[in-house]
Parts: sequence; C-alpha cells; structure tokens
Amino acid sequence: MFRSIKSKLLIWFLFTFSLFFLFFNLYLYKEHQRASMNTVDELLKSKLQFVSGMIEIYRDGEIDFELSELQKQEQHSTIYDIPHSGHYFQIFHGDGSRLAKSNSLDELKLPFSYEKALEEKIYYETSFIAPDEPVRILTEYITIYDRYRNKERFFIVQIGESLTATYNQLKNLRLLMLYSMPIMLVLSVIGGITIISISLRPLRDFSTNVGQIRESSLHRRIEAYKVSKELSELASSFNFMMENIEKAFSQQKRFLADASHELRTPTSVIKSCSEVYLRKERTLDEYKEALQIILKNAGEMEQIINKMLILSRMEHRSFAIRKRDVALCQTINKIISIVRSLANKNTVTVETDLPGEEVIVQGDESALSEAFMNVIENSIKYNRKGGTISVSLTVKNDEAVIVVRDTGIGIPEASLSRIFERFYRAEKTTGQRSETFHGAGLGLSIVNETIEAHKGRIDVRSEVGKGSIFTLYLPVNG
Ligand code: ADP
Repeated sequence: MFRSIKSKLLIWFLFTFSLFFLFFNLYLYKEHQRASMNTVDELLKSKLQFVSGMIEIYRDGEIDFELSELQKQEQHSTIYDIPHSGHYFQIFHGDGSRLAKSNSLDELKLPFSYEKALEEKIYYETSFIAPDEPVRILTEYITIYDRYRNKERFFIVQIGESLTATYNQLKNLRLLMLYSMPIMLVLSVIGGITIISISLRPLRDFSTNVGQIRESSLHRRIEAYKVSKELSELASSFNFMMENIEKAFSQQKRFLADASHELRTPTSVIKSCSEVYLRKERTLDEYKEALQIILKNAGEMEQIINKMLILSRMEHRSFAIRKRDVALCQTINKIISIVRSLANKNTVTVETDLPGEEVIVQGDESALSEAFMNVIENSIKYNRKGGTISVSLTVKNDEAVIVVRDTGIGIPEASLSRIFERFYRAEKTTGQRSETFHGAGLGLSIVNETIEAHKGRIDVRSEVGKGSIFTLYLPVNG
C-alpha cells in the first residue's frame, strides 16, 4: 500500500495538516487564554482604583472605609454584599491589620502576605479560595495623602475576581477544539484524496497511453504539448526512447530480412546445383565441378555468417577491445601482402606510402586488421582493370591517419551516407552487376563499429567513375 504515490502523498498530507491544525489550535487557545486573563487583570485594576477611592481619613485621625459610598452604586453594593458572588476585596492598614473586607467573602479568605505586599508593591496571583472557586487577585500597596496631618498614609488593597466563568469558557473552547479534530481529520482525508486523485490523473492518463503501445504500434508517441507541464519532459524523453527503440527494432527487422535474402542466393545455388548433378550419373570431373560450386557458395555463406557474428558480438557488448600496442606499419604491410594476390588477379597496382618510423596505437590488433582489410579489399574489389590503389600512413595532431585511395567505380553521392549500414551495397543502386563486385554489404559496418570502439573516425570522399578515398583516424595515445 505504501508503495503507491497516492498513499505516500496522503500520509504526508495528513501528517502535515494534522500537525498544522494541532499547533494552530494550541496557538489559538493560548492567545484566547492570554486575552481573557488580560481582560480580568484590567478589570481588577479599575476596581482597585475604585475601592481605594472609598478609603476616608477623618480630622480626628480615624480611618474608615466608606461602604455607604459603595452602596450608593447599586451594582457594586450588590456584588460585594452577596456571599460568594465572585467579586471580593480586602483592605489593610499599612501595618498589616485589616481595615475592611467585602461581605461577599463571608467565611472565605483571600490569600494575603504582608511581606510580599511590602516587597512587590503590586502583583497579580491566581488562587483557589474554595475547591471550586479559582480567583484572580490583585494586591497593591497604596499611599493616601492625609491633608489634616500633612503626611502620607499607607494601605494594602486586595481585589479578587472569580475565574470560574473564564475557566469554563476555556474548558468549552478546549472541548470544541478536541471534538473538531476528528471531524477536520475526516474532512482533510476526503479533501486530500480528491486533490491527490485530480493531481495524479495526468500521470494515469500518461501511463494508459504508454500501456497502449504495442509491437505493432511502435510509431505511437505521447503528445508532449498535451500532457501537463511537469510531465512534458518525461514525455519528450519517452518519445526519444521510443524513437530509438523503433529505429533499433526496424534495423533488426531489416537485418533479419537482409540476412535471409543474402543467405538465400548461395543456399539456392547449392541446392539447385546438387539437384542438377544428382539427376543422372556424372563423370568425376563433373562431380568436382559441382563440389567447387558448392564450396564457393558455402564459403560465401560462411563469410556472411562470420561477419554477422562479429557484428552481433559488437552489438551485445561482448566485444571488448583488448588494448595492446598495435604497430600500424607492420599491420598494414601484412594486409598488403595478403591482398596482393587479389590485386594481381584484378590487375590493380598497389602503392604504399608508410613512414620509416613505426606508428603505435593502442587497440585490438585483430579487430583493426579486419577493418583495414575490409577497406583495402574494397578498394581493389571496386577498382577498374589496370587501376591503382594507394595506402598511406601519417601522424597528424596525435592521430594516425590511414588513407586508402583507389581509382575505382566511386560511390554515388546519395549512397555515401549509407555505405556503413548493414547489407547496404551501393552498386545495387547504380545497376552494376553484383557478380562483378561480390559482397554482402557488412564489411564497412564492421569497420565503422571497430573504429568507433577505438575512439577514431572515418571520412569518405568519392567521385563516381574516378575513385574513392577512405581516411581512417585513430588516436595515437588512445
Ligand atoms: P561489401 O561486402 O558489399 O563490399 P561493404 O560494407 O564493405 O560491403 O561496402 C558497402 C558498399 O559500399 C559496397 O557494396 C560498395 O557499394 C560500396 N563501397 C565500399 N568501398 C568502395 C570503394 N572503394 N569504391 C566503391 N564503392 C565502395
């Protein structure tokens, strides 16, 4: 379940939302609590001023608390007279003896500390004066001017206000918040699922589109401009991948078709030759002739199969270059000596221009020999009678440059970019007789892969009827 993006998103969403909701509620509660207490404290302050104003000092030095003044104010006389009304006061002389207390206190007592009052002058405290009666108390040490004796007199006034209503209010708020939690949680689950489903819909559509692509519909693409912005990059990468897959797939199909086509000719020659020669008794020479035809065609088949195997090995990355010192002059000379008989047979002159000093590159000698052999053999094969080939080797900008030049039939412009494709044969397009220039069109593919694997490159220039120049570049310090 936790593997799906949807559930992961939902869990994160719920976790974040719950955390936010919890802290928001806590903050709200604390703010409300602070504001309520502030209101009570302000009320206490104004009441203290009012009660202090009721202290009367007489000419004879008597001090009294003018309750009558308070009683004139209908409201206050009522609240301070009713026992346990929740509104209390106490007044003390400067020496700590009690001057007056509200009737509402009845047998209850406001906590009073004479020392604390002297020390702190003014302070607030919260105390339970009865088990179910929390009270907020303001104590202030005040001075009143005695105009008869021209001196200041000291008093301690205490005002108390019940916090029962405020505590009840806060309790109700706490309950409200507690009950709203599961409701908010359920709502946020519903909201979260809806939002996540809507957000993931494009991904679902995308995956449905991708899922509909079959072997027969590899050409199908995701329309990048139709998917949402976040997915368009993925769509482009996917399309790019599909293009490569389609290309590889059609190459593979073509390779298979071409391979069967190339192998069919020698196979049918072998088959029909055997049928013809087996139809009646033959002389020994005739059997020899038949076997020679079969041998030649089997040889061609073997060559094609070998080249196909090399290409397949290269493709499946089992082709690992064993990097060793390869002496290029020596390798080229060896190839020239091998192809000389073919050159003589085709009356082609071979010229070489190799440096006096050996050129060493890092690479796979047999793979490089095979590549050079293919290019040099082609230059003889596709040459004219009495033509020339020249093979030169130089070192330029840390690259060994091998140039194979011929005076042959040349390659048409349109075929130049395709000669490295598998089974591609340019002479087919020019209508030349393929028996004259025998091959399967695999040689240059192998050359290309080999040179690329050695981090080199190939350049081909050609003019039809005049000849071709194949230039192979190989890094000397590769
Ligand atoms: P093949 O086995 O047919 O020679 P390659 O892959 O070696 O296959 O070459 C591919 C095609 O490129 C050849 O069929 C030929 O048409 C053309 N080609 C290659 N080298 C030459 C050349 N030196 N002169 C003219 N055409 C060439």
